[in-house]
Amino acid sequence: MPEAYASLEGKRALITGAARGIGRAIAAQLKGAGAEVLCCDLPGTSENEEVAREVGGQALYADVTKADDVEKLIAEAGDIDILINNAGITRDGLLARMSEEDWRAVIDVNLTSVYLMCHAAIRGMMKRRSGAIVNLSSVVGLHGNFGQTNYAASKAGIVGFTKSLAREAGTRGVRVNAVAPGYIETRLTDVLPDEVKTKMLEATSLGRFGQPEDIARAVHFLCSDEAAYITGEVLVVDGGMAM
Ligand code: NAD
Repeated sequence: MPEAYASLEGKRALITGAARGIGRAIAAQLKGAGAEVLCCDLPGTSENEEVAREVGGQALYADVTKADDVEKLIAEAGDIDILINNAGITRDGLLARMSEEDWRAVIDVNLTSVYLMCHAAIRGMMKRRSGAIVNLSSVVGLHGNFGQTNYAASKAGIVGFTKSLAREAGTRGVRVNAVAPGYIETRLTDVLPDEVKTKMLEATSLGRFGQPEDIARAVHFLCSDEAAYITGEVLVVDGGMAM
């Protein structure tokens, strides 16, 4: 019998923002590939328990913007082979009217969390000379978007962070990559006005919106040995939108 594609048998994977949307699909995908899955989301997110049950994994809770929470989370998680930094939010608005609070909230959840999580996890991975990190960026971080200066800055920051950490950790056996999704149907995009959705769809070569599973398959590839020689890369998964 041929070995399963990109098997993650024997690997322990921690996913942030696992309770819904893309994180939930990643949890299912990695479980399907044989990984032991640890699902992390904000304290009080009941769906996280449900996802953990579905994938036969553990439900863990942390606000990934808080250093103490993250330290505790990584200690609870134990030795992890795969880290998926997926938690993210939007607080859209034109820069001229954007409050400092909305700026800081988005930078904190989307970018500072990636620093905190990697900072807490990287030493263990480097010591074990093995690890794969995948950070969720966005095509908005590569091309910008109207009304999303805060979000674009956070997602562009992830690109620079990913490439820099890849350079630091490569010789210690740790790969660090990013996935940049286009428009994916989740609660995050559900709130967009219909005219924005129509424009996005028109700009998408494949003529459909992405599904969380489209992203989960790319994340799976990048954290598997199929991508053993890929690090510091940003894989765009957008149905041909941002070409
Ligand atoms: P979503 O809103 O459906 O899910 C985000 C998850 O993150 C939620 O479960 C939420 O509880 C969790 N979360 C938020 N703040 C947190 C915190 N402080 N600590 C811990 N968990 C927290 O979003 P999604 O669409 O599934 O997006 C997942 C990732 O993909 C995000 O980083 C997002 O920016 C990115 N992304 C999404 C799209 C898209 O079109 N949906 C496009 C590009 C990039």
